[in-house]
Amino acid sequence: MENFIDTQPSELAPTLQRLRSNWQASKPDYAQRMDDLGRLRHALRLRMDEMAEAVGKDFSHRAKAETRIADGMTVLNDIDHLRKHLRKWMRPTRVGVGWRFLPARAQVRPMPLGVVGVIAPWNYPVNLALIPLATALAAGNHVYLKPSEHTPHTARFLRSLLAEAIAPGRVAVATGGADIGAAFAGLPFDHLVFTGSTAVGRKVMAAAAAHLTPLTLELGGKSPALIAEDYPIEHAAARIATGKWFNCGQTCIAPDYVLVPKGKRDALVKALRDEAVTRYGENLTNLDDYTRIINAGQYNRLKGYLDDAKSRGIERVTLAGHADPAQRLLPPTLLLDPSDDALIMQEEIFGPLLPIKSYRSLDEAIAYINAHDRPLALYPFSHNRATVEKILHGTLAGGVSVNDTLFHFAIGNLPFGGVGPSGMGAYHGRAGFDAMSKQLPVFWQARRSGGDLLKPPYSKAKWLIDLIVR
Ligand code: NAD
Repeated sequence: MENFIDTQPSELAPTLQRLRSNWQASKPDYAQRMDDLGRLRHALRLRMDEMAEAVGKDFSHRAKAETRIADGMTVLNDIDHLRKHLRKWMRPTRVGVGWRFLPARAQVRPMPLGVVGVIAPWNYPVNLALIPLATALAAGNHVYLKPSEHTPHTARFLRSLLAEAIAPGRVAVATGGADIGAAFAGLPFDHLVFTGSTAVGRKVMAAAAAHLTPLTLELGGKSPALIAEDYPIEHAAARIATGKWFNCGQTCIAPDYVLVPKGKRDALVKALRDEAVTRYGENLTNLDDYTRIINAGQYNRLKGYLDDAKSRGIERVTLAGHADPAQRLLPPTLLLDPSDDALIMQEEIFGPLLPIKSYRSLDEAIAYINAHDRPLALYPFSHNRATVEKILHGTLAGGVSVNDTLFHFAIGNLPFGGVGPSGMGAYHGRAGFDAMSKQLPVFWQARRSGGDLLKPPYSKAKWLIDLIVR
């Protein structure tokens, strides 16, 4: 792209060094952090249309409303949450010392770590760059950001936005592909937040090991929706449709597949078709609101799942319109009861294809989920409290929305992150502030302390030792 030169590997370490020495010279205080967050919020709000245009160019077409909601509102919401609670979170917390150590005092003091690295993926290229960045700034750190090479227009927008909002020396942006990403992950950050695939997450963890860099890994996986017997199918279909077809399924927490009671499968297929037609038109005529697949590589990967399903004789239902590889347009498509060895059931889908698997009993559905990697998200649908509890008790996922999809991501008070292969650690709001701070334990000894007596000859302090050893 014109006027856009990728970062040279040789620039990475000196840039980190510059960010670190600036931080050491002037660690951002409360007023500075509030100012940075406020300016970032203001700049993003003013440049929302420009942002949507940049993201739209990267996707060739991205539904504008989806960009405003998922890359705009989410970031504003998180910044608002950070600004609202920051003063309270920064305060040291006094903790008891226990009677044996009285009259000393103790506190836990959140301290900024230094420089936080942020590696972002392409699917929500503003959200997944700016929410970790804003959280790191709130915690008093400087930030080095690496956006995805697959969203060069957005990367350019981010660089310009940050240059406008944050004084130079506190944030920097590196651009480039996997080679720059690998070198970036090997830098001695004080903390590194990586959002991307599980496969690359493994490489990032290996690279971070060299410096024992603490990591937050926000990865992917197959997130199930589980519709219980009691839940109205049309209602489940509507909410699953939103979670699945928002951003054309290119969402880490999109419902990857649906588990539905055997007798209700066909009703679900019909309800999903109705949803697709109402939203996008019988022939996918509402193309404005339907996002494209980001690039040919991703399109061909998804097409490969369909070809594999076809070769296995798996029934496929295209819900509206048809595919157009030239536009990277892939319609909402269902695959009915695919076998487990089908590629679509092996890999994270990350597109508008939705396998529907029927189950005979809730226990069978729970066992199916547990036989696979712990998912990033889980979507139980039931109005029966005992059924929901049974699903929550019987499984473990990174996060859960009950009777809906995606929403747990947006709530500032909920930590967001995976478990096992879907990720490590969490951020958003307080969880992110804590993860990007050192929780410094401080013990404050009193003028007079029993501890002074605990020294040889111990015979002199026997009464005290007898008192505390009980
Ligand atoms: P990706 O893993 O291919 O790339 C993510 C980032 O890592 C990019 O900036 C890339 O340049 C960089 N990178 C590539 N190779 C690297 C290396 N060896 N070392 C360090 N960095 C390297 O992911 P993607 O295709 O951009 O995004 C899709 C994946 O991200 C999906 O699996 C999705 O589930 C996941 N995801 C997770 C979340 C979450 O919050 N948990 C959010 C969005 C996407």
